[in-house]
Amino acid sequence: MPAIVLATHNRDKVKEIACALNHIENTRLYSLDDLPDLPEVIEDAPTLEGNALKKAREIYRFAQAKLKDILVLADDTGLEVDALNGAPGIYSARYAAADLGRKPTYSENVAKLLRDLSGKANRAARFRTVIALVGIWNGSFLETTVEGIAEGEILTEPCGMGGFGYDPVFFSTDARKSFAELSLDEKNAISHRGRALRAVSDFLINPSRTTS
Ligand code: IMP
Repeated sequence: MPAIVLATHNRDKVKEIACALNHIENTRLYSLDDLPDLPEVIEDAPTLEGNALKKAREIYRFAQAKLKDILVLADDTGLEVDALNGAPGIYSARYAAADLGRKPTYSENVAKLLRDLSGKANRAARFRTVIALVGIWNGSFLETTVEGIAEGEILTEPCGMGGFGYDPVFFSTDARKSFAELSLDEKNAISHRGRALRAVSDFLINPSRTTS
């Protein structure tokens, strides 16, 4: 039976991805918790695509020695703000790190974003998730990426109690609310990650379709 390896230790992500792929039959899902001794993958590529592909390739190389017939799925997400020339982008998780000299919390990153945008009229932004697929699917070697985008604007102050990361200041164009005001199901229906996962699921069912 083919195996899909999800390149994450994050249980919430595993649940979300497992749910999105649950109609793909005859596959076993693994996460990085099932691959002890995996060497750390340094995410030092200049793009989300580069980081997702690097993660997927390195994990594939490691995991194929232990599991047969595997496909690795690795994701990378960034918030791209037009008035900041696409920042924080690949640095979204560590946006305020240089100011603080340590790993920032979500609210420290949000505070820096609001400071950097203060007085700017253009607050257009988007979340972009890239998922790289590397490995064997339907008997052939596959290496590709799919993406999901959610468009919005950065609010001037946090709004809503749900979600994580930049959700309280991301006003979704689709929902006309901040991501932090949405239920998980509402967010998944329109989010960058939800869209990327649906693109993965469509692709695995019909790999001949073009991907990004
Ligand atoms: P990752 O690539 O999924 O680890 O995401 C990198 C960073 O982007 C996270 O640490 C968050 O700050 C931010 N981020 C990713 N996805 C979301 C989201 O759905 N809402 C808000 N922030 C997010």
